[in-house]
Amino acid sequence: MKQSKNLNDLIDALTILPGVGRKSAQRMAYQLIRSNNDLTLNLADKLNNITSNIASCKVCGIYLDIEDVDKQVNGECHICIAQNKDPSKICVTESPSDAYIIDQSTDYNGYFFVLDGSLSPLDGRGPIEVGIKRLQQNLEEKKITELILATSTTVEGEATAHYVQQLASKMSIKVSRIAFGIPLNGELGYLDSETISHAFNERKII
Ligand code: ZN
Repeated sequence: MKQSKNLNDLIDALTILPGVGRKSAQRMAYQLIRSNNDLTLNLADKLNNITSNIASCKVCGIYLDIEDVDKQVNGECHICIAQNKDPSKICVTESPSDAYIIDQSTDYNGYFFVLDGSLSPLDGRGPIEVGIKRLQQNLEEKKITELILATSTTVEGEATAHYVQQLASKMSIKVSRIAFGIPLNGELGYLDSETISHAFNERKII
């Protein structure tokens, strides 16, 4: 039986999403076909928008609507050009969403630098692909004295943190890593042993 070419094309297109194989893409495609036309067209419109209306800050790499990129200040974002900034600190994350959540949840007022994911040599993602070369240039241009690593605790995230730490140490920049462990209001009995072990080893004097 011949399947619709348009349907197949949609399934192929959906497989570019992370963690989406052909089976999941197929389910999504069928769901989109069954959905109300207005909802599907709205999704298509939003997808179209991101190709023309979103840009990344030339300095830190967070995503912004094009009208919020300050063309007067070399394409920098509001966080990079904020007045009360501590210019000695830079926080390195793996994605823009991590930078947003740190900016919103803490009183951190230094620079951010968003890597393009994490190092994964087997997938062809080395220091140039994830933006570590750009980070190096950034560190050389700014008078940074402390670099805060906020990469994830996955194997790739740890490898990325290690690589950046080596690079920054060679430049005599103090490197710190955000703490990992027991979540607030969390009960120890519900946590996995690796998390408890990490939290225990990272205990601090109170
Ligand atoms: Zn920026």
